[in-house]
Amino acid sequence: MFNMLPITGDSLPIGTFVLTYDDGPGPNTQPIAEYLSSMGIAATFFVVGEFAERQPRVLTRLRALGHRLGNHTWTHDRAGLPGQLARGGAVADEVRRTAALLDAGDEPIAFRAPYGSWDSAVATALNADPDLADAHTGPFHWGRRPYRLGGVAGRRRSFGCRDLLSRPRQHREAGHHPAT
Ligand SMILES: [Zn+2]
Repeated sequence: MFNMLPITGDSLPIGTFVLTYDDGPGPNTQPIAEYLSSMGIAATFFVVGEFAERQPRVLTRLRALGHRLGNHTWTHDRAGLPGQLARGGAVADEVRRTAALLDAGDEPIAFRAPYGSWDSAVATALNADPDLADAHTGPFHWGRRPYRLGGVAGRRRSFGCRDLLSRPRQHREAGHHPAT
């Protein structure tokens, strides 16, 4: 089921640390996944379907390493899902096509909206497909509260898709960008 409002880290218990990596798979995805796994860390990789389709072995490897695959739409449209819906785009197809690559079985698929762009109209459109709604949970957004990690206080940056916004050509052509 897609929530009307995004789910943020604010709903997690204090001290919880969740690691996610968006917008791949790109050239760095598997090395990062291997490293995290070697450190005993499981992450969620929110993948873009049109990249994932070209690299099925990377998805298989990520799963074998114990990581979770999340749905980050098929095209990562720069208008975001609300913009796509406003122009008559098939937002359910964006989610459905990517979900088909994830081989999630009975596990709910974590969903993250590109750029964190989300509204109730998009939630309603996606929930109109019961199978799609049942298969997913989210959207998961980034947290924004100050944090303290290893004794160092700081302000959690809202990473995610902003780098992608400034590097659309690189992202499209190489399937690579400094995502989180
Ligand atoms: Zn993204």
